Amino acid sequence: MIEINKIGSEISYALYHKIPSLVYPYLFINKIVRSKIELPMDANYRIIYYHSVSNKNKELFENQIRYLNKNYTIVELDEIISSSKELNSDKKYLSITFDDGFLDNYTVAFPILKKLSIPATFFITPKLIEMSCRDKVDYKKYFKKHFNKIKIQKSMTWDQIRELNLNGYDIGCHGYTHKDIGKIGNDEEMQKEITYTKSIIENELNKKVKYFAFPYGKKANISEEAVIEVIKSGYKACFSADRGWNIGKKCIYYRDGIEPWFKPYILKSILNGEIDHLTNIHYYNSINENINC
Ligand SMILES: [Zn+2]
Repeated sequence: MIEINKIGSEISYALYHKIPSLVYPYLFINKIVRSKIELPMDANYRIIYYHSVSNKNKELFENQIRYLNKNYTIVELDEIISSSKELNSDKKYLSITFDDGFLDNYTVAFPILKKLSIPATFFITPKLIEMSCRDKVDYKKYFKKHFNKIKIQKSMTWDQIRELNLNGYDIGCHGYTHKDIGKIGNDEEMQKEITYTKSIIENELNKKVKYFAFPYGKKANISEEAVIEVIKSGYKACFSADRGWNIGKKCIYYRDGIEPWFKPYILKSILNGEIDHLTNIHYYNSINENINC
């Protein structure tokens, strides 16, 4: 089982984000290997994240949101994280987030979410917005260096982000440059990515920024020092890109990476926690226990 988990960890990113045709066989094998999945008690809150929602995937995205809306109670992060509200154990709760601040979040995802009255949080990267005003070659260079993506994506503008916010959508921080915070060696750089960025977004929106999503968001990209910096800077909580149930108040929460083309079968399987074993929960438990949030 250890070997299977190890191999699973290494290939899961590729399977879920790069090679659609392998997702179904992987889930099938996974189900056979782990025939009995034990759900933790009170397991009823998950958070998902998207990156780009291209025009090509518009219809798939809308179908997916309708499916989620039918099967889950979709709530704002605030409703669970910043309130002392007791969750109804008969319901399944879900929050939707977007990372990076790509233009298609505004042009494709936002109109669909608005039409269906679905809340969401958009985690943005101020340097991406700044660079989008520069020369195309500079933007391309910056994008290739800081985003692990093949296709160059355009950024939302501050005006578009303000419009999202005026429509009730929450805006969070996703680092200043989208640097891998797990590899940052000095305090000054860490403060720039976490603390300074918070003030940039707050000045642009004239509103407090409450949440931080770690760029890349896996265990290797998150240190305990960085989570301490996040909480010290006045954020209420932060988010990884590792899968899991969110039970009780924490400093750092789990999130499931979702692609608009995932079919209901895949969504259901992920949101039931069927591949949560790929996450090192001991790592996150220790951070949450060591920091008083
Ligand atoms: Zn990102």
